[in-house]
Amino acid sequence: MSRGFPRAGVEYPGSYADVRAWFPTDAACLDYLDWLRWPDGFHCPVCRGTKAWKLPDGRWSCGVCGRRVSATAGTIFHGTRTPLTVWFAAAWQMTTQKHGISALGLKRTLGIGSEQTAWAMLHRYRTAMVRPGRERLSGIVEADETFLGGPEPGVRGRGAQGKVMVEVAVEQVGRGLGRCRLQVIPDVAGPTLREFMLAHVEPGSVVITDGLASYRPACGEDYEHRPEPIGPSGQQAHELLPAVHRVASLVQRWLLGTHQGGVKPAHMQAYLDEFTFRFNRRRSRARGMLFYRLLEQAVQAEPRTYRSLVAEPGSGRRDRLPPPPDKRIRPASLDGDPVDRPWRKAVQ
Ligand SMILES: [Zn+2]
Repeated sequence: MSRGFPRAGVEYPGSYADVRAWFPTDAACLDYLDWLRWPDGFHCPVCRGTKAWKLPDGRWSCGVCGRRVSATAGTIFHGTRTPLTVWFAAAWQMTTQKHGISALGLKRTLGIGSEQTAWAMLHRYRTAMVRPGRERLSGIVEADETFLGGPEPGVRGRGAQGKVMVEVAVEQVGRGLGRCRLQVIPDVAGPTLREFMLAHVEPGSVVITDGLASYRPACGEDYEHRPEPIGPSGQQAHELLPAVHRVASLVQRWLLGTHQGGVKPAHMQAYLDEFTFRFNRRRSRARGMLFYRLLEQAVQAEPRTYRSLVAEPGSGRRDRLPPPPDKRIRPASLDGDPVDRPWRKAVQ
């Protein structure tokens, strides 16, 4: 369950100053996660019991099964050695910067010891960015496949180095763009595209595609399919499907810009999920709202081991492993002890 209309400055921080003031310690962060995870009061994830009391360290002691439960247990924060203050600062950077932040950027901004630790934190957040049961696209929806990723701009086509085939669907809203969905696909066969449609587009919607034959069985009887064949009319694909091509080029620019073209094919889906999370909320005027949504989803998302993040099962390829974070490195906490005008005491 989630809260309906959270307000800036009440349910979520309205500025980075709020973040620092509200969450100066891990205890404060833990209490916020607790409040997000159990909006109707604690229930034990082991026995579903609701009789419990709070321990001095912020955990719950279940009065039914006796288990001690932290709000981070069984979530993406499970067993983390990174202070929650750092996690919160990372969530703020990731959700409030227009283009998110790279692992290297986060390492530098927060003074995290290793880039791998920063990357793993961002990637765990990415796994929480798809909300289960989210509504499908509807109305007039463009759909097309494209190739994204890879280190070089402008190289197109199947098999180009590091590129991944992605199905893109975008709502047309007047002359503008609505919401989008992006999914890595293995091929453009009818069944693959049909699965994509049913997962991401509300039946009954108008679906505009190019003339590729598999879109007909993909849409079947469930959608009002309007194929726009390229060729005879002499129009370019980006004129026929402007919304899809607009979004695809925004994604590609983001991958090449913020992430310097370094996204591995096995990780592409998670990056697409991050792009979609931010894009579909781009009109939200309150910056802290995305921070709130991300943490709210993060306490519902499954924990992931570092190894499973690095090598996505079923991707068919293993990345060259970034070395697992050094066991001894623990990012410095951002705990905020008040400091009295350090600049006045600087040695000249
Ligand atoms: Zn219990």
